[in-house]
Parts: sequence; structure tokens; C-alpha cells
Amino acid sequence: MAAQLIDGKAIAQQVRDEVAAAVAELKERGVTPGLAVVLVGDDPASALYVNNKEKTARELGMFSIQHRLPAETSQAELEALIDRLNADPAIHGILVQAPLPKQINSDAIFRRISPAKDVDGFHPENVGRLWLGQDALVACTPAGVMVMLEKMGVDPAGKHAVVVGRSNIVGKPMAALLLKRHATVTICHSKTPDLKETCRKADILVAAIGKLQMLNAEYVKPGAVVIDVGINPVPGTKSKVRGDVDFDSAVEVAGMITPVPGGVGPMTIAMLMANTVKAAKMIHGIH
Ligand code: NAP
Repeated sequence: MAAQLIDGKAIAQQVRDEVAAAVAELKERGVTPGLAVVLVGDDPASALYVNNKEKTARELGMFSIQHRLPAETSQAELEALIDRLNADPAIHGILVQAPLPKQINSDAIFRRISPAKDVDGFHPENVGRLWLGQDALVACTPAGVMVMLEKMGVDPAGKHAVVVGRSNIVGKPMAALLLKRHATVTICHSKTPDLKETCRKADILVAAIGKLQMLNAEYVKPGAVVIDVGINPVPGTKSKVRGDVDFDSAVEVAGMITPVPGGVGPMTIAMLMANTVKAAKMIHGIH
């Protein structure tokens, strides 16, 4: 029997509705959550992402401002902007859109953002807090996956979760979050032998690889929850994307599965909004 679909669009809408309600409540208490998005250069894909983030924040009742800097911006100029945003009481979340131009040291930029306003969850302090099991601002995509599991009634406790991919923005925080929720976690990467056998042991299989449809039904344990984070262009098409999982075969074996598009993708911006509200509450000591 085909797996149950995990509808990322619908769950992201639920998250946005919850954020809009939280924003309205905060405003009643005199706090308007504020998000600053920073774009360096004029990459059209990045400009689109940044516009969407700013627009979504406004739609949910937040204050949102976009800073566009020229591609030749220096490290010192970008750091000066971040320092201003760190000190600005109207701003609770700062997002610097990646990738940054070559002359910019990205790590130094992400470290410059105040951890309290680090809504991307990339600052070492937030990464450390996550691994210590402490409250933290967590990278949006893996945080979104946890919300999907929760909304679908999947409790990771006692389950074997296999995360394929160990990037700092998806794989590692994903593993930390699943561990925090008491899963037994295996992290796989390009040097993992026996990938198929390992994946087949997963009750929860998360693919964050960046390889088009690499994991087919043979990698899936019957009844497993399959979360496909991958977004890969389909060669020979104009704008078609597919995941790291071969959906058509995996859907016949899995118990639940996210489609691509319409799965994890829509959760990322929704979680950025949720993180901005969380940051505003933390900054103002509101629980
Ligand atoms: P990344 O930084 O390129 O990391 C890919 C990971 O996959 C690496 O850890 C790599 O291992 C591993 N890998 C590559 N080939 C492998 C193989 N043959 N077998 C096992 N592991 C392999 O990518 P990322 O930023 O984490 O993104 C992963 C995917 O998620 C991409 O398709 C990206 O577009 C998508 N994504 C989606 C969202 C969203 O909003 N839905 C957000 C972020 C990313 P090594 O470490 O050994 O190289």
C-alpha cells in the first residue's frame, strides 16, 4: 500500500497561522517582532529568497526590512551593518543570505550576528547550545522537519533515525534534534560504507544529500517515515525539482513520506518566522 503523504504546504500554513497569532499577542504587549534580511550582490535566486522572507514576515504582522548591498561590499562594511542591526531594538532576527561574495569571510559574518538574533541558527553559540540539549535558535530546515514529525504524530523516542548528510545547515542539526527527542541516531555521509543496509534499518530516514533521487525503495525499511530534504534540478527541464529520494518507488514501501516539491521546502521560511518570534520573546523575557 502506498505511504501516507506528509503535506509540507499544509503544515507550513499551520505554522504561519500560529506565528501570526503569536505576533498579534506580542504586539498587544508592545513588542513587534522585527526581521532584517541582508543581501549582498544581485544573484537573482538569492534576491527571490530574500524578497519572499521579507514579504512573509510582513504578511504575518512583523516589522521587516531588507538591506541590499553591492557585490563589492567589504567585510568591514558588512560587519558594520551587522553591528548596527545587533544594536537596533526594532530588530529581533538577522538573516544574511548565503552564498556571500568571495571577498567575504562567511564564518566571521555568521559569528558576528548576535546569538540572540541568529534566526538562522548558524552561530557557534546556538550550535553548541543545541548539542548541549539547551534551548537555542535552531537552523530552520531541520527545525521544520521536527515540526512535521510532531504534527504527523511521529514520536522519535526509541526509534532508529538515519540522517544521510552531515552539513552544518541540515544534517548535523537534524541529528542533534532527533537525538534530543530520544531517537537512536546514525549519521551517514559520502564515506559511509553499506549505505543501503544502514538506511534500511531506519524507522525515520532523513535524506539531505543533494543527489537527485539517489535513495530508491531498496534503501527504505517497510513502514519507515521518509523525510526528503533534497531539492535537485531535473536535467533537461526548465525549473522542475525533485528530491534525494526516488519518490515513485519509495512511496510503495514507506509508511509516511514527504514529496518534493511540497514537502520540507515550504517549512523553511515558516520556521524562519517562528524563530523570529522566538528570538523576540527571548530578548523581551516573554515565555
Ligand atoms: P551539502 O552541504 O552539499 O551536504 C551534502 C551531504 O551529503 C554531505 O554531508 C555529503 O557527505 C553527503 N553526501 C553526498 N554524496 C553522498 C553519497 N553518495 N552518499 C552518502 N552521503 C553523501 O548539502 P546541504 O546544504 O546539506 O543540502 C542537502 C540537500 O538539501 C540539497 O539538495 C539542498 O538543496 C537541500 N536543502 C533543502 C532545504 C529546504 O529548504 N528544503 C534547505 C537546505 C538544503 P560529505 O560530508 O562526506 O561530503
